[in-house]
Amino acid sequence: GAVLTVDSLRDQRELGFVSRAPRWAIAHKFPAEKATTELLGIDIQVGRTGSLTPVARLQPVTVGGVVVSNATLHNEDEIARLGVKPGDTVEVQRAGDVIPQVLRVVKDGGGALWTMPHQCPICGSDAVREIDAKGEEDVRRRCTGGLVCPAQAVERLKHFVSRKALDIDGLGAKQIQLFHEKGVLKGPQDIFRLAEAIEAAGLPPLEEWDGFGKVSARKLFDAIDAHRTVPFARFLNGLGIRHVGQTTSQLFARTFLAWDAFWTTVVSAAEEGEGSEAWEALAGIDGIGATAVNALCDFEREAHNREMLAALLSELTIEDEAKAASDSPVAGKTIVFTGTLERMTRDEAKARAGALGAKVSGSVSKKTDLIVAGPGAGSKLKKAAELGIQTMTEDEWFDLIGGA
Ligand SMILES: [Zn+2]
Repeated sequence: GAVLTVDSLRDQRELGFVSRAPRWAIAHKFPAEKATTELLGIDIQVGRTGSLTPVARLQPVTVGGVVVSNATLHNEDEIARLGVKPGDTVEVQRAGDVIPQVLRVVKDGGGALWTMPHQCPICGSDAVREIDAKGEEDVRRRCTGGLVCPAQAVERLKHFVSRKALDIDGLGAKQIQLFHEKGVLKGPQDIFRLAEAIEAAGLPPLEEWDGFGKVSARKLFDAIDAHRTVPFARFLNGLGIRHVGQTTSQLFARTFLAWDAFWTTVVSAAEEGEGSEAWEALAGIDGIGATAVNALCDFEREAHNREMLAALLSELTIEDEAKAASDSPVAGKTIVFTGTLERMTRDEAKARAGALGAKVSGSVSKKTDLIVAGPGAGSKLKKAAELGIQTMTEDEWFDLIGGA
């Protein structure tokens, strides 16, 4: 594509921004590239939470300068809507960096109708469509195998070491896959006994493996050891429990502060069930719903999970969440960050504000107490002015909360 920009810097300053987009520049993108090719087959990928995703295997075709041989089909309803089946000629589209998708059937190949398997192709467990609280069927079919499903195990391991969970240097998707294939990594607890597991499997020491030398093996073990103390919220997020992601984990951490206090409550809630005092202590937290609490209880009731957790806790120390400073100048306030932040990332800003007892919101309303605005702040700042909400720059924010 092409970007058209107003040349004069003075005019640029005058025009300013709308939200994050400048008024003085506009991008024209080429329309999404399309191509037709034959659909050879439909494969199933199994994700971390067990969801089965149908993927079209295509006769390789060039779309927008890139050879495409796979395209997502999303779910079985989408396949039914498209009426697509192996042998058909299909139109595929690739827009920007987006995963290629199948748009429509161009020519019927006369093949048999394709149906979604009702068993996980990896572990053979039943794959079902869950019915939610409103009685609606989930569009995704999920493997019910949980930890016995190798596909889910690998994806969960990748999640456990990912940036927003334990964030272990040198232990990425590629290494997880490799260790899992070699049979030395079955659950997250094995990460912390990697050297022993390698030896127990009768394999040579890591430094003798392809792609690992003495230095990189040492570095990896050091990085793992450096993560034997883990912050509460990161650890909980890392467990990959359904409906318990980063935000939910932080809310639990900020409320309970100590892992033991939290998990004792989860155990009671799982034993005593929905509506019990322990259950209410979890579900009553602002921002936490019954779905997340029930998912926690389901996790705890599964014996495999209890064993994994016990094994992990024997290897790790869970760091208490720093007590939200109730005497901080922003405790109990609702804050909105807008515009470009220059001294911190959005995630850091949120974490810091949260640690100081403030609540961070994404939108400006009458409940907002304070706006921290960086360059390029637009509509939110305008709304704040209308509502008479206090506004400050990022530097003023740091002055308020006390440096760093
Ligand atoms: Zn499975």
